[in-house]
Amino acid sequence: GFPSSSKLLLVFSLSGGGLVAYSESQSTSATNNTELERLANKKKVVVLGTGWASASFLKGLDISSYDVRVVSPRNYFAFTPLLPSVTCGTVEARSIVEPIRNIVKKKNGEIQFWEAECTKIDAANKKVFCRSSIDANLVGKKEFSLDYDYLVIATGAEVNTFNTPGVMEHCHFLKEVEDAQKIRTSVIDCFEKAILPELTEEERRINLHFVIVGGGPTGVEFAAELHDFIYEDLVKLYPMVRDLVSITVIQSGDHILNTYDSRISSFAEQKFARDGIDVRTGCRVLSVTDKEVIMKIKSTGENVPVPHGMVVWSTGVTTRPVVKDFMEQIGQGKRRVLATNEWLRVKGREDVYAIGDCATIDQRKVMEDIAAIFKAADKDNSGTLTVEEFQDIIADILIRYPQVDLHLQSEHLSSVTDLLNDPEGNALKEVDIEGFKSALSHVDSQLKSLPATAQVAAQQGTYLSSCFNRWEKCKTQPEGPRRFKGSGRHEFLPFRYKHFGQFAPLGGEQAAAELPGDWVSVGRSTQWLWYSVYASKQVSWRTRVLVVSDWTRRFIFGRDSSRI
Ligand code: FAD
Repeated sequence: GFPSSSKLLLVFSLSGGGLVAYSESQSTSATNNTELERLANKKKVVVLGTGWASASFLKGLDISSYDVRVVSPRNYFAFTPLLPSVTCGTVEARSIVEPIRNIVKKKNGEIQFWEAECTKIDAANKKVFCRSSIDANLVGKKEFSLDYDYLVIATGAEVNTFNTPGVMEHCHFLKEVEDAQKIRTSVIDCFEKAILPELTEEERRINLHFVIVGGGPTGVEFAAELHDFIYEDLVKLYPMVRDLVSITVIQSGDHILNTYDSRISSFAEQKFARDGIDVRTGCRVLSVTDKEVIMKIKSTGENVPVPHGMVVWSTGVTTRPVVKDFMEQIGQGKRRVLATNEWLRVKGREDVYAIGDCATIDQRKVMEDIAAIFKAADKDNSGTLTVEEFQDIIADILIRYPQVDLHLQSEHLSSVTDLLNDPEGNALKEVDIEGFKSALSHVDSQLKSLPATAQVAAQQGTYLSSCFNRWEKCKTQPEGPRRFKGSGRHEFLPFRYKHFGQFAPLGGEQAAAELPGDWVSVGRSTQWLWYSVYASKQVSWRTRVLVVSDWTRRFIFGRDSSRI
């Protein structure tokens, strides 16, 4: 760098090193100036978060033309799908985390990382304000601010309590690594409490009643892990209370795992019934105290107290306050979730992108565009199109909005698929525009909400990094006019999510999986598929080795139940 070369210049001048030495240092300083200029021209990219979305963005990003700064209160990436396994010691917490500095190490430069929380995004002045998350003994200032040319918000979401009284104070959550560690200690505490002398049998029973609120994938997986932990390990150590343990899952919908295929949902319900896990569907929790959960049975309207030893709240996520505040600033205050366009750019901001759980792609514009395309094609205002006109339009829509294609397979649109596969147009001579538009509005409702999953977050991160990498070459904004000249269309294809299926581990070495192409697989072999997929998806060889050795240790020695 620059400081050492100015030293060189000084040394040679003082020692009378003459012309050669001077010109040598001059050329070094010229190089350095170019380097400094290049650095000064680098766009400043500030990334908030070190989760799934940001880690894949940072991994894929070519930093030669960007000055990248990352801020997150966590200096590590956590492999969240294995968090339920951490709650019972099947896998150790350190096995599923990787220091972010390892992940973002680059050959051609450095990404700066600061362990701090972003407390405010100042959209007007392109600045973020941050506060160090280290409380103890910090010498100097805790707060700092960073300017950005581009901001990538990837702060994820926070747990949603739906403002239910007592939840914050008396429930466990399962969102962060610390949450999983706390649950592990708390489960063991419940057993230690239950065997204290001089307790009545009823008191022991209550101490050993584990309540899980939320029958989604996280709640169900935790219930399954807990069941295995208790019946494979803890009852051997606490045999006197074996028959007093109970697990209840409270779910407001009619089924658990209701976002999965109905075959998986009913397989899970049957498995839980065999395992003695009590699934209470159609019940809403009204409040929680340290002693009981009050739930309302929707069908009867009755309020029922449920005494508990511990409660895990797992009912979904909501927007973080820092993002909410940003939404107010940019005119999105009335929305629930930060909206981006299909290129993941925040609506209303040219320079801000949002990926992962903190944002959602707003498809309203897509639907408006599609409606306009139809209107323009229906020149005689008859409300119908010939099959040929229709096929042209569909081809156009699929190029512009490839995500629509995903949903063309849905049964509502089967006639469309038939038409596309029928180039002669034998099936139909005319297409009713209104009918098709109403089918598309069904597509719209499906498109609106991509699931808040690691799969979506990681794919969005990779997509955005590829846009940033090509940006330099394009020398324009991503929404350049190249692809669809004159129509104001985009240079990059919009983000398109590829669904690779999803798992639901159900305990007892059994799992269910929803695979692409409407395949459903359940049972032991699926559990082995789960092991191999999750081992292969680890972010580093270190965590892969640690996770596999934890699984092996558990097979041989069982889980550790020490309260440390
Ligand atoms: P996160 O991964 O949550 O990362 C957010 C990051 O932002 C974190 O580093 C956080 O510290 C940081 N941050 C927060 N606030 C601030 C701030 N103010 N300033 C700066 N940084 C901030 N998905 C699947 O696809 N498959 C699964 O099997 C699966 N299992 C799951 C199991 C559990 C128990 C949980 C909780 C989630 C699971 N998910 C799964 C969902 C998945 O974890 C999330 O969808 C994913 O983490 C979202 O990624 P993200 O990058 O948006 O957010």
